[in-house]
Amino acid sequence: MAPKIKQESPGPPPKRSKHNYADTCKVIVGSRKDEFVMHTAFATAKSSFFKSTISQDWKEGKEKTVRLPQHEAGTFHVFVHWIYSGSLDFSIVDNTGAHDPPSYLNCGRVWALAHYLGAPQLQNQVIDRIIHKVARGDTRNVALSSLKHIWQITPPGSTIRQLLTNCVASENRAYNGVGEAEELPEEILLEATRQHLYGASKNVPTMEHRCNYHEHDEGEPRCE
Ligand SMILES: [Zn+2]
Repeated sequence: MAPKIKQESPGPPPKRSKHNYADTCKVIVGSRKDEFVMHTAFATAKSSFFKSTISQDWKEGKEKTVRLPQHEAGTFHVFVHWIYSGSLDFSIVDNTGAHDPPSYLNCGRVWALAHYLGAPQLQNQVIDRIIHKVARGDTRNVALSSLKHIWQITPPGSTIRQLLTNCVASENRAYNGVGEAEELPEEILLEATRQHLYGASKNVPTMEHRCNYHEHDEGEPRCE
């Protein structure tokens, strides 16, 4: 005899989210004031910055505009594409194919924007993309100009700084002479010195240890 299947009562329909897909906000980005329009439901679901900005400050009738003058429109375009598609497409800013490795500079820019907007999932995807780039044999010697720029837009001790520090310090090629090496960020010089003077092991970033550079809440399971 077949077992009796317990019939669940359908119950009340799920509560509707307070946001609907007709609500949009305008985002003005960069010094040229490029304008983007996003659905607030999408923006607030993936970004704690948009979640707090929209829920706290926006009243009925108030201008629904967010300004991000210090970020670049191209970088924000990558963010909007990720919000809607879940995929990280650097070809928007890199002038390369969607499957080519992105430049370190644009990785840094997108990570910094994701950090500012409170989108840790996007930060982690950028980290994974850098580690993939390293794993496929791309140089770990990040251009000095890119490092300087990334160091200007990211906080001290941040995961992307740790990752790039380990990329550069574990690469054997020296920069162009002493003058250029002296301009390297202090964290990188210290790590290179630690390896050189104390024989500390090189930390070549690998996918196996990618969670070392991820943003995870306490207790959250690590990536498989
Ligand atoms: Zn992880």
